[in-house]
Amino acid sequence: MTAAPLYACIEAGGTKFVAGLVASPDDVRETARFPTTTPAATLAAVTRWIADAITRHGPVRAAGIASFGPLALDRGTPDWGHITATPKPGWAGTDLAGAIASALAVPVGFDTDVNGAALAEARWGAGIGQRIAVYATIGTGIGGGAVVAGQPLYGLSHPEMGHIRVSRHPGDTDFAGTCPFHGDCLEGLASGPAIIMRWGMSLSELSADHPGQDIIAYYIAQLAINLQAMMEPGRIILGGGVMATPGLLERVQRAAAWLGAGYFKGDVAKVIVAPGLGARAGLLGALALAMDAT
Ligand code: ZN
Repeated sequence: MTAAPLYACIEAGGTKFVAGLVASPDDVRETARFPTTTPAATLAAVTRWIADAITRHGPVRAAGIASFGPLALDRGTPDWGHITATPKPGWAGTDLAGAIASALAVPVGFDTDVNGAALAEARWGAGIGQRIAVYATIGTGIGGGAVVAGQPLYGLSHPEMGHIRVSRHPGDTDFAGTCPFHGDCLEGLASGPAIIMRWGMSLSELSADHPGQDIIAYYIAQLAINLQAMMEPGRIILGGGVMATPGLLERVQRAAAWLGAGYFKGDVAKVIVAPGLGARAGLLGALALAMDAT
């Protein structure tokens, strides 16, 4: 019997990196977490751990990196594999894929954390069987990735779904929004920091009858109906810390049904759903990218 090939998987986040040696979604051999400090120190710690883990579990066939962005994703350009204009101090211009490729000497798959999660959800989670599935995370930031016929969607760059413009809720007209680029784009109004700036606590800490619950649901529902209008995904999968608020998914479904006014295909309760992979979507996103790199 031949052992299943192993992959080095890296979930690169703004506050922590998670690395793992993984054979399949059901066969995660070992994982470790590292605080995101400087690029040099963080990548040295991650590559050292992977090298050690390889001595325990065996060689890897490829590596996958699902990273915070923005990223350079065009393999035809010299900056492929780099983090580009991130506001995170010290990280703009970091050659993530190059560092991993030179440390491990294997093919490297590289994409955004949300494109990775979308790919993993489409392949193994809530998006199985759909021609188009979208994964969006509503947390410290808001981002989304679309998988179309098995491939992550990108054009000049990856989508920036968190920065769509939304209509203001009538009960939320005074707040300027937190996005440094657009003010009151979706991320500027509905991300975790935007919620805390308005109401002093997270959505899950606000009472169930606090007006903020419906205000945030109204904004996220606009993402959903805009996605339906543009591409009619079979699944719109909503993850991230803000979506862990009890009752929020149901509020988003109700608001989307109301805003959509019966026009879109599918039952909102079946189309707008929670992740199937939960917190594993990040690491399994890196696994999908690693598998596709070979
Ligand atoms: Zn914005």
